[in-house]
Amino acid sequence: MRDDPERLRFEITARDGAARAGRLHTAHGAIETPAFIPLATKAVVRALEAREVAALGYELVLGNTYHLLLSPGPQRIAELGGLHAFMGWERAIITDSGGFQVFSLAHGAVADEIKGRRNQAPGKQQVLEISEQGVRFRSYIDGTEHMLSPERSLEIQAALGSDIALVFDECTPYHADRDYTARSTERTHRWLDRCLDWHRAHGPRHQSVFGIVQGGVYPELRRESAERVGAAGVDGIAIGGTLGRDKPEMYSVLDATIPHLPDDAPRHLLGIGEPDDLVEGIARGIELFDCAVPTRHARHGMALAPEPERRYRLNLRLAAMAADERPLVEGCPCPACARHTRAYLHYLSRGEEMTGVRLLALHNLTYLERLVAGAREAIAAQRYGAYRDALLDGAAPWQAVSEIVKPARA
Ligand SMILES: [Zn+2]
Repeated sequence: MRDDPERLRFEITARDGAARAGRLHTAHGAIETPAFIPLATKAVVRALEAREVAALGYELVLGNTYHLLLSPGPQRIAELGGLHAFMGWERAIITDSGGFQVFSLAHGAVADEIKGRRNQAPGKQQVLEISEQGVRFRSYIDGTEHMLSPERSLEIQAALGSDIALVFDECTPYHADRDYTARSTERTHRWLDRCLDWHRAHGPRHQSVFGIVQGGVYPELRRESAERVGAAGVDGIAIGGTLGRDKPEMYSVLDATIPHLPDDAPRHLLGIGEPDDLVEGIARGIELFDCAVPTRHARHGMALAPEPERRYRLNLRLAAMAADERPLVEGCPCPACARHTRAYLHYLSRGEEMTGVRLLALHNLTYLERLVAGAREAIAAQRYGAYRDALLDGAAPWQAVSEIVKPARA
């Protein structure tokens, strides 16, 4: 771990079991943790304006190196004042390295938000070469050839000017066997060193760098990777790669990893963010989560809701919603729930109205923001276990706060 308060300072303000609440100080302000990070993959949180995202209480968004490399390009963004100025976002930004995207193209993994694949001609080869140097691939937009390597990824993230950069890693798919995963994880560690070497020589003074733990579903590989990354000169640690085929396997991968991470490092679970994952991840000592769920659900007519048996989602497109006069979720402080009925949102969503997508995005992001804010309060009040149980049992975050956390403080 690197200790450099000018880049990043992380303070843990409360603990309850393994769960931690704290504050992450960046060049663009502090982030209260645990925190959910909305995706601004292509320099926009889909359907929303930057100030709306800030108004919901968010202090950090995630941009993506792969997508911004292909369009509009890091040079254009740098000329326009960097990613913060380009997208009109004044708070902190973390950028993903592009490793997940290029390796998803190569391995054909079921990647969530690889928009480019939709435009790809069937069978057309996009990844040209994977070598120790990096990954050569073709743009899905115009067919031009690009290279992503540890140095190039960090160079792009430097041009974007994000507050936190992620190292370039190989993202191994679930179907990779132990031998492949072991060799791939070793390469990820060599790439980690190259990223840090580049960043020490050329990185922006105020940009911090998070290493990424790989190792697939193999506990001893996860442990080795956690210790290797924790001993490197990183400012924080992300957990990446395949986390198994179901939630119990994901939690066991986390249990095999987290105890081997340095206690004082901020920890980011990459690409995970359904309500129960947040609750379980926080219980295990994770503080940062990013995920496409809130904005992707919005486009598909789904609202996050305290319904564990329905995977925490309400399908607005069902005929049963057509005359339902209730709000999406009772007591939700979002604009959609404050002013509109399920019936109206059903109608907008069925009609593919942009306003429907916007209202659902506002609701879903409010829901997750309330969930992590409640977790912070619960940890401070030493009531996280009860908060977790209540949410897994079907309580809304604000309901669990008023019934469990507030009485404990009174
Ligand atoms: Zn709402």
